[in-house]
Amino acid sequence: MSAARLLTELLDLVLPDGCAGCAAPGQHWCPRCAADQGPPRLVTRLPGAPPTVAAGTYAGPLRQALLAYKERGRRRLADPLADLLVDAALAHPVLARPAPGRSWLVPAPSRPAASRARGGDHVRTLTEALAERLADGSRRSVGVSPGLRMHAGGRDSVGLDAAARAANLRGRLAPRPEYLPPPGVEVFLVDDVVTTGATLRACAASLAAVGVRVAGAITLCDATGTHCGNRWSANRPTA
Ligand SMILES: [Zn+2]
Repeated sequence: MSAARLLTELLDLVLPDGCAGCAAPGQHWCPRCAADQGPPRLVTRLPGAPPTVAAGTYAGPLRQALLAYKERGRRRLADPLADLLVDAALAHPVLARPAPGRSWLVPAPSRPAASRARGGDHVRTLTEALAERLADGSRRSVGVSPGLRMHAGGRDSVGLDAAARAANLRGRLAPRPEYLPPPGVEVFLVDDVVTTGATLRACAASLAAVGVRVAGAITLCDATGTHCGNRWSANRPTA
């Protein structure tokens, strides 16, 4: 971890600067912002992607909280963000069904340079927190399989349309055979934001190539209606 990142995280511990969503003093994620998220929703504009449920929209307090967690080192937000992911997981039409045996969560991998800059893989941390919460009270037995990796190269996908995102990912996602879940189990992808579905499609295809079938996906934020929370996406529903 870089010295700057360590300093940021230490400051987050001793000098929390209020709610990450609305800046109200006293808490990392205030009850009002938590209550404002509304129910999770099935993301419908993702042709070719696995059935996906998002905890909320990539806008307002949730977007602010994710950016604070992901880009500004406020790692304590992993707890409330994982709580939101639990709500999404329990609303998923496949994951919420009773199933024999254990299911597996595969975090969508980040670019290596991005993970280094952030002091770790933020989606994997959220996925592990989600699995712990689902296991509490035996709501669902799930394991975490960091079964995908992203090779170096490419660029940040912010601002890219669906075709450019797919091209940016082509050839850079690879399975990690030593971490793949057992054959025949239900597997769910976990990601922080879904925008065009390109990442989910590429992750599912990469796993399918080694015989692992993805049954669904859970994301924190649905950005299919917007890019960056403030301008409309260029992607159009396909016929
Ligand atoms: Zn708040």
